[in-house]
Parts: sequence; structure tokens; C-alpha cells
Amino acid sequence: MVADKADVNANEKNDKLDVLKSTQTVVKKALDKLGYPNEVYELLKEPIRMMTVRIPVRMDDDSIKIFTGFRAQHNDAVGPTKGGVRFHPNVSEKEVKALSIWMSLKAGIVDLPYGGGKGGIVCDPREMSFRELEGISRGYVRAISQIVGPTKDIPAPDVFTNSQIMAWMMDEYSRIDEFNNPGFITGKPLVLGGSHGRESATAKGVTICIEEAAKKKGIQIEGARVVVQGFGNAGSFLAKFMHDKGANVVGISDAQGALYDPNGLDIEYLLDRRDSFGTVTNLFKNTISNKELLELDCDILVPAAIENQITEDNADKIKASIVVEAANGPTTIDATRMLSERGILLVPDVLASAGGVTVSYFEWVQNNQGYYWTEEEVEEKLYQVIVKGFDNVYRTAETRRVDMRLAAYMVGVRKMAEASRFRGWV
Ligand code: NAD
Repeated sequence: MVADKADVNANEKNDKLDVLKSTQTVVKKALDKLGYPNEVYELLKEPIRMMTVRIPVRMDDDSIKIFTGFRAQHNDAVGPTKGGVRFHPNVSEKEVKALSIWMSLKAGIVDLPYGGGKGGIVCDPREMSFRELEGISRGYVRAISQIVGPTKDIPAPDVFTNSQIMAWMMDEYSRIDEFNNPGFITGKPLVLGGSHGRESATAKGVTICIEEAAKKKGIQIEGARVVVQGFGNAGSFLAKFMHDKGANVVGISDAQGALYDPNGLDIEYLLDRRDSFGTVTNLFKNTISNKELLELDCDILVPAAIENQITEDNADKIKASIVVEAANGPTTIDATRMLSERGILLVPDVLASAGGVTVSYFEWVQNNQGYYWTEEEVEEKLYQVIVKGFDNVYRTAETRRVDMRLAAYMVGVRKMAEASRFRGWV
């Protein structure tokens, strides 16, 4: 009997950390608030297409290893699906599905002509050679080539994938398609049709959201104490942008630990010393844990690493006035409610990290036109898109009296729900 209760409690806890279930819960709430019938939810709760592939790769020791990959396409009523490809040992079908739904929501919030997609391969790129990474990247494109393409589904970088991997994938697709096709993928190197500003776009978008949230809370960025969890692509650029704006970045972390200095960390030095996987704390002796980092006294907290970092176990210990989610899914539903009840302004992932997909869209537009923009043009357009998205979500939260996450889902889901209805799907 006691064991049964323990099992029930464990299951409840697992459900709360299940990113697909929690995403579906908020999508349902958003559709209910907007007055859509249940069949719209039934269509949008899962991707319309999900492909699982097996990728054989010849390893450096001449053995053949078979890797599992996924591609999820959430909803293509608005336009082609779009979203990154993640290389990580913990990639799962469930995670890829949830991430594809988040991509649809992001596209809706910043009003891009896309639905959401996402891909992933179960592998550890930190243990693979350059040649093996090329093999797995090309193998993945061959395996999914029938369902992707510049007008069908457009991949991009995500955790542990970068512009080199995008270049190999683009080259493989161009071979299959028999002509040069830069619009097949975004996040490419500049010389292959990449866009200025793509690498730092997610952090730029997060920075704009921080500035907008700070205005609402009456906090000056100059001198504000900022804590950033994660020092990879999103976290490291963000720490730099906040430092450049005069904020005091007092804490940063990576998978191995965290650094704290109440007088401000030397961000330039840390950027210089971090490795390509975003690890730097291993070079220091006096580190703190990621758990301690999240609970530090600060004004602005930016989770920029992984999922489920702010939960009901630590939400009451968060001291920041503003939490801006650069990572996907770092705060559970319960923790979102707890932060909101404590008056902490939470800018949700689907809005805060939409800068990456926005500049990916700009890259695709430039590829389609064959006409390339300057860095200033990209930055100006990105600023306009993110500020408009922020205003729309903030206004919805105020007028509908809901938290920012539910407001963002309401804004994000509306366009694809409408497009699906106009097409006569539901
Ligand atoms: P990345 O791989 O470049 O960096 C991840 C960072 O998180 C590294 O510093 C790593 O050490 C750290 N980390 C990993 N496990 C950790 C743990 N258990 N505890 C603390 N830190 C840990 O990844 P990224 O591209 O910076 O992405 C980070 C998050 O932002 C992800 O959730 C990703 O989905 C999201 N995101 C990224 C982009 C983008 O364009 N890069 C766009 C949208 C959303």
C-alpha cells in the first residue's frame, strides 16, 4: 500500500517533468481560453508527421555504428515547418515532439510564415571525431530527405550542432536534389549563404526581451545583477551582451558547475577560455552548484541550459525579479504559477528564445531572393519583430489576466488554429 502511494507520487512527479505533457496542458488551456472546439486541440496536441530513422555510420575504427534519429513536423497549415536538429545522448521521441510544438508557438508569436519542426539524433558529439560527425550529419539528411526541403521543412542548428554541421547537411541535400539549395537549411556559414547575426540571434532576442521586461519592472539594465545558467551558444552571447550594456553578470554556469562573484565576473576572460561545448567552470577551484546558482540574489535570472531547472522544489527560493527563459522548457507549470504568484515576471521560452528562428527566417528569405542584408539591417528587423511579439504577449497577459506563458501560448497557437480551420482540416 505504501509502495503504491510512493509509485503514484513518483508518477505524478514524472508527469510534471514530462515536457510533452506539460506543453499539451498549456496548449489545451490556451485553445480553451480562445474558445476553440476540442478537435482543434486533438489536431495540435501532437505533430502531424513524425519520422524515426536509423543511420549507419562508419566509425574511425572501421566498425559500423547505427544511430537513431527523429524528425517531427508539428503543423504545416501556415507554411513549411522549421526547427533545429539536436545531437545529444538524451534525445527522445517525446522531447523532439514537444520541441516541434514549441517551434510552432514561436513562429506564431513572432508572426513567421512557418509551422514548427524539430529533429534530433541520439549521439554524443563530444565523443565523436570530425569525420564521424560528418558521416552522421550526411546520413541523417539522406534518411529524412523525402520529407524535408526549402518549401517543406527547413532544419537549423540546435544543442550541439553548428554551422559546419549545417554546411555538410546542405551539401548532402544539394547532391540528392542535384542543384545547389541553400534555402534547405539555415544557420549556415556566411560563405554558403548564411545570414549575418544568426549565431548570436537567440541571445539578441533574449536581450531585447530582458530590456522590455526591465522597463515593465522599472529596473535599469546598467548595474542590474544578472545570473545566466548555461554558457553555450545562447548563454555565453547573452552574458556578453548584458555585460556590454553595463549589467553586472554575477553568476554563470555550465554542466560541470557554476561561478559566482558579487562584484561581477570577467566575462571577456570566460568567453576566451570556454570550450566549443560551452564548458569553462572546470578551470576554476571555487565553484558553486547549478542549484545554488539559480537561488542567488539577483535582479535578472536567465536559464539558458536545459529543461526542468525551476520546479516546485526551488521556485519559492528564486530571488530574481525577472526570469527570462533562453532555454526551452526550463520552468515547470507548477513553478510558473509559483513565480507568478510571487510577482516575478517570467518571460517564457516560446517568446524569449524566438530570436534564433526569426533570423533563420531572414536567412531563408535572403537565400530565396539571392539578395543579402547587412548586419545592421538584420539587427534592426530582429528588434522590431521581437518587440512586437513581446508587446502582443504582454498585452494579452494583462487584458486576459493570465500569466505570460499562457498569454504566449494563446498568441502562438491562434495563427495555426485559424489556418487549420480555413484549410478545412478541423
Ligand atoms: P549549447 O549546447 O551551446 O550550450 C548548453 C550549455 O548548457 C553549455 O554551457 C552546457 O555546459 C550547459 N549545460 C548542459 N547541461 C547542463 C546542466 N545539467 N546544468 C547546467 N548547465 C548545463 O546549447 P545552446 O544552443 O546554448 O542552447 C541552450 C538552450 O537554449 C537549449 O534549451 C536550447 O534548446 C535553447 N535554445 C537555443 C537556441 C540557439 O539558437 N542556440 C535557440 C532557441 C533555444
